[in-house]
Amino acid sequence: KTETEVELMGKLEMLPIYQPREKFSNKGTYGHALIIGGSYGKIGAVMLSGRAALASGSGLVTTFTPKCGYIPLQTAFPEAMTITDSDDEKITAIKFDIEPTVIAIGMGMGTHKDTHLALQEFLKGNTAPLVIDADALNILSKHKSDLKLLKPQTVLTPHPKELERLIGKWKDDFDKLKKAKAFSKKYKSILVIKGAHTITVFENKLYVNSTGNPGLATGGTGDVLTGIITGLICQGYEPLTASIFGVYLHGKSADIAVEDYGYQSLTASHVIDYMGKAFLNLF
Ligand code: AMP
Ligand code: MG
Repeated sequence: KTETEVELMGKLEMLPIYQPREKFSNKGTYGHALIIGGSYGKIGAVMLSGRAALASGSGLVTTFTPKCGYIPLQTAFPEAMTITDSDDEKITAIKFDIEPTVIAIGMGMGTHKDTHLALQEFLKGNTAPLVIDADALNILSKHKSDLKLLKPQTVLTPHPKELERLIGKWKDDFDKLKKAKAFSKKYKSILVIKGAHTITVFENKLYVNSTGNPGLATGGTGDVLTGIITGLICQGYEPLTASIFGVYLHGKSADIAVEDYGYQSLTASHVIDYMGKAFLNLF
């Protein structure tokens, strides 16, 4: 039986992780992130993740949404390229002609049965590093046999309800972490357990984050976290490192933004806007 290792992650732990931007580089150096998700009335989730991926340093972002995402994304998110499903309201088949460096999936995606089939087909064929959030987690929780399609090092970012659906009810925090570690070992996946103190779980290791505040208790902040982690993987961080660093930067950005906006008025977009200050705060 191996011992559990617990590490508290603060600025000192982040400094050796940080990869500086190179002078002789271009957008191709920093990868191409594909953000898959959205459904009728929930395109904003994809927009937030995509904008966050750029704010954490990815070179290019493409979104994949139902057709109804086309106009809002092309209008309000000019930095991104947009691919759409043939269906207007939900994802029914995930097809694209790009070679993404990393893929994030699930934000605002809904759990329609056609979307489940599309996710299943996608997981069977995908070889790119993957971050799974929100409704993609909910679909996998409902169809647990699909979990075996996950490749090693897949990042999962559940909030408490999504985690419960994934690993079952827990008795107390110790039991929760025990179940999370067992899940991580079984699927060789990285579990980012979101909360006031987000804990990243990989096999027997627990990384406890030190940043963040209750201003983050507002819609869309989880989509932003997924985008940040995705953007970090996109530019070359390993999935586990990207998860730990992404959670830290997300919380730090909120900690700096709250000085200007206050806890009540902080929004998910502010967390994106303050990412630059979170990076600069490292030094
Ligand atoms: P989601 O529920 O998917 O939108 O994710 C919410 C995000 O906000 C996660 O990254 C949480 O860790 C973070 N968050 C929510 N509430 C708090 C809180 N009270 N303190 C710190 N972070 C929080
Ligand atoms: Mg969420």
